[in-house]
Amino acid sequence: MFYYVAQQMIDAEDYLTVIDKKIGDGDHGTSMSLGFKEVQKELNAKQFDSINEVFHCVGMTLLDTMGGASGVLFGTVFISGIIGLEPLTEIDLSGMAGIFQRSLTALKKRGKAQIGDKTMVDAFEPAAVALQQAANQGLSLSEGLKRAAKQAETGKEYTKQCMAKFGRAKSFGQSVIGLEDAGAVSVWIIFRSMAAWMNDDTE
Ligand code: ADP
Ligand code: MG
Repeated sequence: MFYYVAQQMIDAEDYLTVIDKKIGDGDHGTSMSLGFKEVQKELNAKQFDSINEVFHCVGMTLLDTMGGASGVLFGTVFISGIIGLEPLTEIDLSGMAGIFQRSLTALKKRGKAQIGDKTMVDAFEPAAVALQQAANQGLSLSEGLKRAAKQAETGKEYTKQCMAKFGRAKSFGQSVIGLEDAGAVSVWIIFRSMAAWMNDDTE
């Protein structure tokens, strides 16, 4: 699944660059692509005994290779959800929802952004909430991921209305209205790709 997510992130490089150039320093596409190319290499090269190790590998690789604010934040998303968890060799929706709830808490603690600050949190929080709600309803992992992807999409669209409180975009003031946040778009691509992979709907 994460190998496919990585490929979709790599393929989105130019698209993300265009977005981040408008309201950031324009490096978001390059850093995500760089990080996820390395993720693919690591996933190919290593043997994994648990799902926890896969999450850890993805997060650590992003942290080590991307640099910048987003390296830490995207690294946090993958690493922090599995800290202290029993090793899992199988995962269902409730397991996945639990991991991403913990990631959300860690991401907000580290970055200090809340919904409405025009960051990746605007896409990640609704996706994590959707996963948990779907799990509470006893739905399947594939259905839960579909719903998370839909909410992440709505969240990244919502960033267009928001003023930025963080990063380079903050200094652009009112002129960022109408433009989406690059990190939120990346979060959407991640959930969309997980959902596509689970639902056998890959390109
Ligand atoms: P950098 O900011 O180091 O240039 P990127 O351009 O790769 O890193 O990523 C910028 C993205 O990181 C933004 O679009 C935003 O979604 C996210 N981001 C930046 N600061 C924060 C923060 N404090 N909390 C949450 N997300 C943030
Ligand atoms: Mg940037």
